[in-house]
Amino acid sequence: RAKRRGRNTVEVFNNEHAAELRDRMALGGRLRDAIIGNELVLYFQPQVNAQNGRIVGLEALVRWQTPDLGLLPPSRFIRVAEELGLVVQLGRWVLDAACRQLRAWLDAGHDDVLVSVNISMQQMLRPTFIEEVREALRASGVPARMLEIELTENAIGESETRLLETVTELKALGVQLALDDFGVGYSSLSHLKQFPIDKLKIDRSFIVDVSTESDGAALARAVIALGHQLGMAVVAQGVETEAQLGFLRRNHCDLFQGFLFGAPVDARDAGRLLRHRYLLPGAFASTRPDRT
Ligand code: C2E
Ligand code: MG
Ligand code: MG
Repeated sequence: RAKRRGRNTVEVFNNEHAAELRDRMALGGRLRDAIIGNELVLYFQPQVNAQNGRIVGLEALVRWQTPDLGLLPPSRFIRVAEELGLVVQLGRWVLDAACRQLRAWLDAGHDDVLVSVNISMQQMLRPTFIEEVREALRASGVPARMLEIELTENAIGESETRLLETVTELKALGVQLALDDFGVGYSSLSHLKQFPIDKLKIDRSFIVDVSTESDGAALARAVIALGHQLGMAVVAQGVETEAQLGFLRRNHCDLFQGFLFGAPVDARDAGRLLRHRYLLPGAFASTRPDRT
């Protein structure tokens, strides 16, 4: 009986899985043309200084503007792009587009803002990756220090020697490095120490319940301490409430990103945010800097 029930469960799973797979494959078939045809767009989400609410950087997050299905989030197409090997082309588009946008902001007088891009491992481990970064910087004339590359923690541990080489070369180029989704992967601490990473981004799942003295709070504190011990700045991702903000400020988290400060917006709106430069929810009111 148990066996039979087990089998039914598997069938249900398979049906849902098949539908999802069909959906992904249908999109995958169109993705190559979409990349070439410029249907991808970058949105930008601000990252703010925990002390004063000043925007220090913007994370570039890709979306796909389809003619028929609307604006698709990366959860709909990144995985299929990886499966089809298209994530390399996609990532290259993202890198170029982010540098072009950075150039425009630089021309508008913003010379101290960082733009971060998410790079998938498939792209990062290609022998030509460093050359692609160098070329994107050269073509846009953007200084390397204004570009940040985010890799995910899962990456560390796989192809480690190659990754360490790449990361070291990126650092030598002068770009900044951030480790994304920290806490949910498997990187061992001794490996982490070898990587010349500037920022740890605590995964959103640790931020959700920090305000109730829970395990989440203990873990978040530990990660903040760990990052600082390793000489890294610590970013909290997915900050949504004043209570989370309060906890994170009390525990010396350096940078915040999340809906409380702003969801990802298109380049035009991101430019507007840069002109104001400060994002100030209530908790910052007392430290509001004078603006001229
Ligand atoms: P990520 O790099 O960890 O990016 C953060 C994600 O969390 C974004 O989702 C963002 O919109 C969302 N987020 C930010 N603040 C909050 C908040 O306060 N609450 C909640 N619930 N969510 C928040 P998005 O834009 O859908 O991106 C999802 C993931 O897709 C990214 O996670 C990243 O891993 C991947 N991705 C995005 N753009 C690219 C890209 O250009 N290349 C590659 N390879 N992956 C990308
Ligand atoms: Mg990211
Ligand atoms: Mg994440």
